[in-house]
Amino acid sequence: MDVRKEYLEFFKSKGHEVVSSMPLVPDDPTLLFTNAGMVQFKDIFTGSIPTPKNKTATSCQLCVRAGGKHNDLENVGYTARHHTLFEMLGNFSFGDYFKKEAIAYAWEFVTVNLALPKDKLWVTIHTSDDEAFELWKEHISEDRIKRFGDKDNFWSMGDTGPCGPCSEVFYDQGEEHFNSQEDYLGGEGDRFLEIWNLVFMQYERDSSGKMTPLPKPSIDTGMGLERVVAIKEGKLNNFDSSLFMPIIEKTKQLASKNPTNENIGSFRVIADHLRAVSFMISQGILFDKEGRGYVLRRILRRAVRHGYLLGFREPFMAKLVDTLDSIVGSHYSEVREQKEYIKEQITLEEDRFFKTIDSGMSLFEEELKNTKEKFSGEVAFKLYDTYGFPLDLTQDMLRDKELLVDINRFDELMTEQRNKAKAAWKGSGDSSTEGDFKKLLEKYGKNEFVGYNTTSANSKI
Ligand code: ATP
Ligand code: MG
Ligand code: MG
Ligand code: MG
Repeated sequence: MDVRKEYLEFFKSKGHEVVSSMPLVPDDPTLLFTNAGMVQFKDIFTGSIPTPKNKTATSCQLCVRAGGKHNDLENVGYTARHHTLFEMLGNFSFGDYFKKEAIAYAWEFVTVNLALPKDKLWVTIHTSDDEAFELWKEHISEDRIKRFGDKDNFWSMGDTGPCGPCSEVFYDQGEEHFNSQEDYLGGEGDRFLEIWNLVFMQYERDSSGKMTPLPKPSIDTGMGLERVVAIKEGKLNNFDSSLFMPIIEKTKQLASKNPTNENIGSFRVIADHLRAVSFMISQGILFDKEGRGYVLRRILRRAVRHGYLLGFREPFMAKLVDTLDSIVGSHYSEVREQKEYIKEQITLEEDRFFKTIDSGMSLFEEELKNTKEKFSGEVAFKLYDTYGFPLDLTQDMLRDKELLVDINRFDELMTEQRNKAKAAWKGSGDSSTEGDFKKLLEKYGKNEFVGYNTTSANSKI
């Protein structure tokens, strides 16, 4: 089944206008990447532009969640359901239909079009949302409707503005396959797989926190394509689906290695990160020392390090781009058309990192031997500064050893370096030292905030 097509056609048949995915880089400095289907409709929801003639829409939006408020970089390779780049299917009502229809559509799509067995479905609603409870009861038995608080089931665009309760659809993949303590409805495990979030935008919150009902409440929903495809293909892990397996197969071939329990995470991270970097590059993002380009660099270097663990000692990622194209190229022409450019950019960056990765890994391993409590901030800084290991990469390398980096020391060294760069610049105002300053910036980078403190990017969505 072509889930993407099925979804868009379904909502088209219900009168929705099918709109294209907006770019991954939004025209909004507060937001690092487009991270949900609603981003392109934000101004309509806040009322800052008039409601369009067509009051309902549907889309399949490419999303990146690798920085800002939504950051799933740390989840990739560790859960069965998170990607840095994924496709979010969504249907939207701008003051047109509301809860009753949104719930009825969702139920129809999930049980008829997707034909998911009803006895595996669960829904969650906000504790206060009796209306949603009554509406869901028409479709699903009461004991499968669970209430949760603000953390799980209340959505807001920011501290002020449109907000409201949400309701999510979960698919129980069966307790026989999952045994972590987190595998309960509402937990972080993968057994109860969240597939769809229905947001009921019904209030406007002012700066005092007071919520006033919106005269024309709206609907914003998001369903993860990769999760649904995996379910439809009978896979318990997104990475086992046809959206990822060909990339993993190709990696196996290039590495002459078969996945084992120990290294399967590396294969998955590479497949995930290949998708993210390829799409990001195809949309004009360049490797950089800061901002979005630094997120791109961090994603690629994480993939390279996993490649290193699989035995690669020279660029390999570009060799996977044709396989990615065979999966997504017919729908996403940007990947097909820019395939050669993507390969070239990836290889340049891989080359840069492969030059220093050996020395960096030895330094890391050496230091690890001496580490008892915290991993030295000085060494983490040296890895970053001299060998091009972003801090989050070092942190990820320490994760399975349950070790943390001495962040205070790392931050101190970072600040010192910035001050040095500033002092060097203040020394004189003539253009030749400006040239020197540029060199310094090239060497040290202007501002690495996105690099080591991903929560500092003040995304509101
Ligand atoms: P989770 O709790 O699994 O992290 P979420 O609650 O953060 O998901 P939402 O913000 O509600 O996700 O996004 C709507 C839908 O998009 C989710 O129900 C899920 O199907 C999908 N989704 C969200 N994050 C990811 C991701 N990192 N990779 C793949 N799909 C995702
Ligand atoms: Mg999440
Ligand atoms: Mg969730
Ligand atoms: Mg959710």
